[in-house]
Amino acid sequence: MILLVDMDAFFASVEQAHHPHLLGQPVVVCGDPGRRGVVTAASYEARPFGVRAGMALGEARRLCPQAHYVEGNPEKYVALSLQLLELYTTWSPEVEPFSVDEAFVGLGSRVALGPAAEVAREIQLAILERFQLGASIGVGPNKLVAKMAAGVRKPRGLTALDEEGFRATFWPRDIQELWGVGPKLAVRIRSLGFKTVGDLAHAPVPLLKTAFGIVGPALREAAWGRDETPLVPYHRGVDAKSMGHEVTLPEDCDDERYIECTLLRLSDQVGRRLRTEGYVGRIVAVKLRNQRFETVLRQRALPEFTADHLRIFQHARALWREHWKGDPVRLIGVSVSGLARRSPGEQQELLPADARSRRLERALDQVRDRLGEASVVPLGSLAHRRAPGHVPFGTLPARSGARRGPTPP
Ligand SMILES: [Mg+2]
Repeated sequence: MILLVDMDAFFASVEQAHHPHLLGQPVVVCGDPGRRGVVTAASYEARPFGVRAGMALGEARRLCPQAHYVEGNPEKYVALSLQLLELYTTWSPEVEPFSVDEAFVGLGSRVALGPAAEVAREIQLAILERFQLGASIGVGPNKLVAKMAAGVRKPRGLTALDEEGFRATFWPRDIQELWGVGPKLAVRIRSLGFKTVGDLAHAPVPLLKTAFGIVGPALREAAWGRDETPLVPYHRGVDAKSMGHEVTLPEDCDDERYIECTLLRLSDQVGRRLRTEGYVGRIVAVKLRNQRFETVLRQRALPEFTADHLRIFQHARALWREHWKGDPVRLIGVSVSGLARRSPGEQQELLPADARSRRLERALDQVRDRLGEASVVPLGSLAHRRAPGHVPFGTLPARSGARRGPTPP
């Protein structure tokens, strides 16, 4: 049984809680109220005027000139977010942050829906008492149902659904209400004749497989309210001792090839750092964040220790493929944890191929030590070199023409 706690209009509510004269008033949180920008959050009092997060500030001012425009304070929100996670651990150690204002709380498999909803009510009250903040909570037998239930009633909603309740609630609804189905995917699903979640639940599997690959059958399962994604508690999420690299893309990207190239580049950097600092590791993790700042962290343990970038990349790519549903990515990260010191005795390879690739790796590391990190890079990490504006090492002129995908750093 899992809860998804979703803070109501989080940033705006925090500002209202900290500045009582804003209580009950339309509040718009933004980057810098004096400059052009976008709305980061709108209080529930501002929403009836049509103000929404992501909207241009100018438009918000036109729709709701009387609102209080407040400059956001990200450090404050993150600090509060961490305090909230701490609070949830009062009920269960199984707490996984999902975004700055959302977290999953796992209650184990022996708890029934009713008692789980009781816990949700207690958490809701505790958040209100301690932080003067409202939250909406979804309760369900898995992450998918909990997440979608949380959206049913807002603000301060509490919705508990079992799989049957999920189907009764969501089958009549538009396909885009299914978690993981963005506008683009929705268009493709509709073009096959499936308009509601219920339609998708009854779609023939072979058809979905042909149209969407491995994602197809997973989508159908989701339409039935089934989901086996594990909950990864945050204190165990990534080992304290880990090495990773992450990159915020200049613009949201759903270009598979670009994401793959980026994973390879990051894996290469992580492998290089492990080798330079004399470590090997056996847990590979991938971090993906979308434009709604929802973060997915997935990891897997390998059968052996490694510092090899290709090995890291293979697992990072597999994790990405398993967990990415096609929505545009804002941030990508690769890390390796479960580290151990690489002792000279461990360098005996079992297979000649291993020995050869290790020798190659060593030679390439020496080249980099002498000539710099960019002197040798994996070919695959440059496969996006034809993207306009990308000048690999200053040798090609930028070309004009628009194509989806940001200019690589
Ligand atoms: Mg929220």
